[in-house]
Amino acid sequence: MTTDFAATRAMFDLPGDMIYLDGNSLGPLPRGAAERVGKAITAEWGQMLITGWNKAGWMDLPSRVGDRIARLIGAEPGHVVMGDTLSIKVYQALASALEMNPGRKVILSDTGNFPSDLYMADGLVRTLGQGYSLRTVAPEDVLDAIDDTVAVTLITEVDYRTGRRHDMQAITARAHEKGALTVWDLAHTAGALDCDLSGCNVDFAVGCTYKYLNSGPGGPAFIYVAPRHVNAARPALSGWLGHEAPFAFDLDYRPGHGIDRMRVGTPPVLQLAALDAALDVWDGVQIADLRARSLALTDAFIAAVEPACPDLTLATPRDHARRGSQVSFRHAQGYAIMQALIARSVIGDFRAPDIIRFGFTPLFTSFDDVARAAAILADIMANRLWDRPEYKTRAKVT
Ligand SMILES: *Cc1c(COP(=O)(O)O)cnc(C)c1O
Repeated sequence: MTTDFAATRAMFDLPGDMIYLDGNSLGPLPRGAAERVGKAITAEWGQMLITGWNKAGWMDLPSRVGDRIARLIGAEPGHVVMGDTLSIKVYQALASALEMNPGRKVILSDTGNFPSDLYMADGLVRTLGQGYSLRTVAPEDVLDAIDDTVAVTLITEVDYRTGRRHDMQAITARAHEKGALTVWDLAHTAGALDCDLSGCNVDFAVGCTYKYLNSGPGGPAFIYVAPRHVNAARPALSGWLGHEAPFAFDLDYRPGHGIDRMRVGTPPVLQLAALDAALDVWDGVQIADLRARSLALTDAFIAAVEPACPDLTLATPRDHARRGSQVSFRHAQGYAIMQALIARSVIGDFRAPDIIRFGFTPLFTSFDDVARAAAILADIMANRLWDRPEYKTRAKVT
């Protein structure tokens, strides 16, 4: 391994006594981010005011930062742009893909997808009318469900609940064979796994940055459109910054050249500054090393927890090829168990109806974290420490 993971861990500001296994939900604060955002606020916004759009390069941030993410997901440079939230980017990608496959009306997704993706697809289908529909099948059945009625597949590579990983190469190849386009959601992929959008021939991809890419709460999403499609993809959310000439203020919309057409409105400059700083951590990281360490960390956690906690049922695939970068267990009292863990400073999360979920983020998770978290979980299970009324009252965010 050539990546120095002790060095990457030192680049995060982690609370001393906390074992943080939730970087798959909200990444921690990179040490460089506060200074960079501070500079963007005081030196840029404060001193430059509106001239910052040109002088500080704010207007180019969405594509400049997009290029840094392109390297992590195997995208061609110049084909990723930042903005909005992931839900919005799902809608954009789907709308363009559907329009590029006229004559077909079905969006195919799976029941393990994150609900927001399904809700956005449903909203789009309702807006389009005309017989468009969303079809969902079990995750294991996606490959076989791709037939010649499917216009576009909408698949999240790693299941947010179970951590099950789809076969991007095989699903994309089957979709193309059947005449369908693909939209891949990389929410639990970008910064967590090896990913080769270009090599897999993916058509569209989207993802968020506040999970494994550590941009902070509310950080912007990204969208990728394959070079062969980008100038044919009509933007459904035709905002002024996706226009060919925003400052011509034409009354008619003309899509911009290349991926810039997927921009919508004013970019979130301060969040992009935080993300840009967060991406510095990746400079010396080899994705193959990251993946190897992620599998070693998740293997170690499974090996420590399973024998010590016979009441927990592993929900994550044992097969490396089918596993993302998280480990999930099922238990009817999952919510209370997670609250008991959090009370002991082991931070994971709970996903209804019965999943306790632990994210393993190689940039900062150590084998010592794994061993300590597993020991605390074993203590909680063996001594029923979760069985207290205060652990059973659900908070707004779980
Ligand atoms: C986290 C996540 C989202 C969240 O979407 P936002 O619009 O950023 O809130 C959407 N889809 C998937 C698959 C996710 O994992």
